[in-house]
Amino acid sequence: MLQSKVAYKTYKENPSDEEARNAILLIKAGFVEKVSSGIYNLLPLGLRVIQKIENIIREELNKIGCQELLLTNLHPKEYWEKTGRWQKFDVLFKTQSQTGSEYSLAPTHEEIIFPLVKKLISSYKDLPIALYQIHTKYRDELRVKSGLLRNREFIMKDLYSFHRNNEEVEKFKKIVDKVYLKIFKRCGLDAIETYASGGTFSPFSTEFQVPTPAGEDTIYYCSNCRIAWNKEIMKERKCKQCKKELQELKTIEVGNTFNLGTKFSEAFDVRYIDKDNKEKLVYAGCYGIGVTRLMGAIVEVYNDEKGIIWPEEVAPFKVHLISIYLKDEKKNQKIKKISYELYEKLNKENIEVLFDERENVSPGEKLVESDLIGIPYKIVIGENYLKYKKFDFKKRNWKYYKQINLAQLLKILK
Ligand SMILES: [Zn+2]
Repeated sequence: MLQSKVAYKTYKENPSDEEARNAILLIKAGFVEKVSSGIYNLLPLGLRVIQKIENIIREELNKIGCQELLLTNLHPKEYWEKTGRWQKFDVLFKTQSQTGSEYSLAPTHEEIIFPLVKKLISSYKDLPIALYQIHTKYRDELRVKSGLLRNREFIMKDLYSFHRNNEEVEKFKKIVDKVYLKIFKRCGLDAIETYASGGTFSPFSTEFQVPTPAGEDTIYYCSNCRIAWNKEIMKERKCKQCKKELQELKTIEVGNTFNLGTKFSEAFDVRYIDKDNKEKLVYAGCYGIGVTRLMGAIVEVYNDEKGIIWPEEVAPFKVHLISIYLKDEKKNQKIKKISYELYEKLNKENIEVLFDERENVSPGEKLVESDLIGIPYKIVIGENYLKYKKFDFKKRNWKYYKQINLAQLLKILK
């Protein structure tokens, strides 16, 4: 894509009303725009990152047989009264229609998907079934100060699975736990499986925590076993598995998996006829990943004093191609020609490239902005190319450029 065509704006100064590093960088680099506290617009660059994350999630969930759907975000009050959560859910956004009907704006979707699944299943042959969506959620948070980590409106992946009994939920939950680690890994994050401190190894719920000094949560981590326990009620600081002293870490929770048992099936009377011809309650699990939060967490982990350093799989583009123009018009014609040729070549090879072809921006500004945006690979075409017939090439986190030819370049990028 030509950079002159991208709808974005970068800033030299930090926004005055943000404390969180992730929000500061995402705003400065033109990925998001703040509308109000806890409410952000995603600009084209930001949406590209979100879509990359979403596609990783889709790929991995579809592989284990999950099906995608899209549920309404306008939830009639009576659905939430059935579970008692119209009163009890502390961050529920409530709204009223012209006719006086009351609704909540979806903070989660158990109240909608259980009545739906009730219609979809009747026999044990219809189970298991696993349905997910990637959709907007609303939470009426009192305080929001962590940028993209805690918002009033955000994108979430929520998966719900339905089974014949508790063992099947546990089994499926273990599969999802593994897939989650893979999803986070592909996003560049080493998430740590974190259990409630209850002490059981057949955990009722698992959190996926990413270590970073900016984290809101605290976990106790065993580097031997690569698992952790969350801070609540954890008294002993020793690993329950190997007895090693646990390490205290600040973390961001990027996902969680829960065994719901029959709690919601009871509320909505979701049953099936088993092999023995008896009617039984459906067992269920639910599994969340905060998608916008994940983008925030990635930025918290991957940045330096110059800007963001995107992991390759979630970067808005793979390559930032930058033409550096000189004072000599003849030389500039050559630089332009080489740059456009390389741009076409990379596009043909299906390598996603952002091409800073702008002629009215100084070399210094281009390079500073490129570091801020944080695309993983940088190719600079300028004076050096004319001298050596080689591209100046570097990874975003390298200190110096390497001079390489086209064959070497394509080999690295492919
Ligand atoms: Zn251990």
